Amino acid sequence: MAGGNAIRGTRVGAGPMGESERGESAPRRRVSYWCANGHESRPSFAVDAEEPESWDCPRCGLPGGKNKEAPPNAPRNEPYKTHLAYVKERRSDADGEAILAEALAKLRQQREG
Ligand SMILES: [Zn+2]
Repeated sequence: MAGGNAIRGTRVGAGPMGESERGESAPRRRVSYWCANGHESRPSFAVDAEEPESWDCPRCGLPGGKNKEAPPNAPRNEPYKTHLAYVKERRSDADGEAILAEALAKLRQQREG
């Protein structure tokens, strides 16, 4: 027994335990997204993957967001309909009804009077 083999068995270069294997049994998590129509989609992502801000609804195609109370409201399919367009449309509708009601009222008064 002359000695000299003391350091055998110490492996340099092995990484921290368990770091090397991943993929096969990687745990996944589900993230819920809601579209403007209230559809919930729950795609799953790898735990270490970053989930996207929005997820297209598989049912109606609208973009969904993670906030159920405030889903993204901009349909990409209709870029020509802006928010302003909607407002104008609504206003003209309301004005039209008011004008119609007024006209009817006048008509009645004329008939009765
Ligand atoms: Zn939807």
